[in-house]
Amino acid sequence: MTSPALSARAAGIHGALLNALLLALALTCATQRPAVAEEAPSRPAARPAGVAPLPKVTAPRLYVIDCGTLVYNRPEDYSLTREEVADTNMSVPCFLVLHPKGVLLFDTGLSDRLVGRPLWENVDGGYGQIKFTTLSGQLADIGVTAADITYLAISHSHFDHVGNANDYAGSTWLAQKAELDVMFGAKADPAYLPLYSALAHARKQVFEGDHDVFGDGTVVLKFTPGHTPGHQALYVKLARTGGVVLAGDLYHYAEERTLHRMPKEEQAAGTPASRELIDRFLTQKHAQLWIGHSTAFFKNAIKAPGWYD
Ligand SMILES: [Zn+2]
Repeated sequence: MTSPALSARAAGIHGALLNALLLALALTCATQRPAVAEEAPSRPAARPAGVAPLPKVTAPRLYVIDCGTLVYNRPEDYSLTREEVADTNMSVPCFLVLHPKGVLLFDTGLSDRLVGRPLWENVDGGYGQIKFTTLSGQLADIGVTAADITYLAISHSHFDHVGNANDYAGSTWLAQKAELDVMFGAKADPAYLPLYSALAHARKQVFEGDHDVFGDGTVVLKFTPGHTPGHQALYVKLARTGGVVLAGDLYHYAEERTLHRMPKEEQAAGTPASRELIDRFLTQKHAQLWIGHSTAFFKNAIKAPGWYD
């Protein structure tokens, strides 16, 4: 049996608890409601002041963007001697494709945060990193903001290709499944994960093999595993320039191609088959191969805000 006094006290405690719970619930609802509204894909963000309008195109247009330089002096890692290589340093380009149906950013280069920092401060695995200009600034010079970029794709997830990936996590990430698994799997390298961690929450199209980006065959991601499990090159069919394959890291030095060399660890990792596949593809499409890390390629390329069409 319960005494009335005890019951009244218990009811009082229950009442207080209930009030506290209701208050907590009200506060939770009050704080959550605006956050949900912010996440809704309603209005596009206002265009930053001073950025030119996005160029309108009727056919694909390709931009080569300066995303830094790697100062390096160990071509032996690519089975080449210093005497065999004209320049042991590597350019680091990013590429932008404007297509009538949208915009694709292919690779994001070295981090924009390195601009102005001394070479010796950012040496990674023997690669000194130099940046003179930001990716975001060069995109703005073209008339492109991060919000304009429909799709982000990376050739692979090494640091010199994902340095600014987080800045473009608002785009739809075109992810090769094998690379996604490496990037966010149990063996993901905690040293590099912060460079692209925001992609975990990006909208994604995940696929295995080649991927036709705009559905008309003019911009196609080519699955070329070997350098990494989900490495991909990019084919762009241009009206005046013709077909171009952006090699990613299928090759680093142009001499790897002419002298048939590759890093030892890639010989049994898929690179020979991927190189053969791309060679056949180049012949079939009468396309040229652009090796982004080759300083000879980069020196001679038309750089953004100029373009290829
Ligand atoms: Zn690379």
